[in-house]
Amino acid sequence: MKDIHDECGVFGIHGHPDAATIGYLGLHALQHRGQESAGIATSDGQDVRLYKQMGLVADVFNADVLKTLTGTSAIGHVRYSTAGSSTLLNAQPMKCMYAGGSIALAHNGNLTNFATLRHQLLARGHLFQSSSDSEILLQLVAAHYAPTLSDRVAAMMTQARGAYSLVILTADQMLAVRDPHGFRPLVLGRLDGAPVVASESTSLNLIGATYEREIEPGEIFIAGPGGETSSRPITSPRLARCVFEQIYFSRPDSIVFGKQVNTLRTEFGRQLAREQPVPNADVIIPVPDSGTPAAIGYAEQLNKPFAMGLIRSHYVGRTFIEPEQRIRHFGVKLKLAPVPEVLKDRVVVVVDDSIVRGTTSQKIVDMVRSRGAREVHMRISSPPTRWPCFYGIDTPSRKELIAARLGSLDEIAGELTADSVGYLSVEGMHRVVSGGGGDGYCDACFTGSYPVPVEDQYSPHSGPDDNR
Ligand code: SF4
Repeated sequence: MKDIHDECGVFGIHGHPDAATIGYLGLHALQHRGQESAGIATSDGQDVRLYKQMGLVADVFNADVLKTLTGTSAIGHVRYSTAGSSTLLNAQPMKCMYAGGSIALAHNGNLTNFATLRHQLLARGHLFQSSSDSEILLQLVAAHYAPTLSDRVAAMMTQARGAYSLVILTADQMLAVRDPHGFRPLVLGRLDGAPVVASESTSLNLIGATYEREIEPGEIFIAGPGGETSSRPITSPRLARCVFEQIYFSRPDSIVFGKQVNTLRTEFGRQLAREQPVPNADVIIPVPDSGTPAAIGYAEQLNKPFAMGLIRSHYVGRTFIEPEQRIRHFGVKLKLAPVPEVLKDRVVVVVDDSIVRGTTSQKIVDMVRSRGAREVHMRISSPPTRWPCFYGIDTPSRKELIAARLGSLDEIAGELTADSVGYLSVEGMHRVVSGGGGDGYCDACFTGSYPVPVEDQYSPHSGPDDNR
């Protein structure tokens, strides 16, 4: 169960008769990446149509709405706000008019120089509809004078710094763009001959498209009347793919940065067991769903029983009833229910993918112990999260991160009321992901080594359910 809010998901398809419906399904598979708003823009060769609303994909779109989104190309977006507040004005795709007609853009990531760019654009007379950094990207593309759209995007890429995986739609072209560091994933597939791009390959699986490759860091992929072209106007100074995508954010059935996520997570669990075993464990249980593959790996490596000691409810929306004082740990109880027969009189190892604030973990330890566990040990399949992310993941400030606040594992275990706490090492994580070294990956939230300087800091948004 996550301690960090998701980021965003993007989708695009060009040259397919069912573009809007396929866009809807493609976004459905990316719902885990953002639940605040959803939007689809389509084009029919003449103009770009757009529909977006606050809410889940299935609530925002219905058959009548999809009928209005005519055309053979579509881009879509699901959002959780990491920069800019949670309002419809900040929902995506964003659309405007430029010299070439209508243009729409959807963005996953965060710019590290967004305030500087926004001030520069405002000083030049630009007007903004939203507080989102994604609108800055749209304005940079739309306002720059260059003979082709590709040239405009290339010029934008020389100014924007930080993380961006983009889909862009005009009347007759769809573009997919990834920042030169490659922070966020973006994959290319094919459906009935039509190119499809998506944040994760799970989206391709749902619509029956075949996976072809990643959009490369620094690449501009264009599908239009003249066919498909690809260019890399900016070479990568340093690859910085987000390792947290593989630890937590992406779905386990996705291929991210060329690797099957479920396989990696199971291996994180095995490596964690090598580094942080609990020799007297009776049972290994995951914090579902995101801790499950690592818990399976952990149990396999130690040859210990794996069991579902916590059951997750999949029907929890936001609750506005908070009888905090009368029903202890109300929020966590809505999401997780303990299975007493798995826990009673056992030495229990609880495996989760990460601990951020620690509030949820403390409630889980309490829940497991209250059902009769003799000992409760927390094992975490990532290193201690000690630094905030500025590249599109909404993490709290350092003073709220339990591993930054408290110095030692004993102190963390004490605050969680666990018998012990153990994390995967940074070296162990890199060994699993890349065979060692960590080349090509960002690990700044664990190490504080930021691959792109953070020029304009912002206060990450905290949603109403973000009390962990
Ligand atoms: S700081 Fe962490 S969450 Fe952010 S991009 Fe880097 S690895 Fe990913």
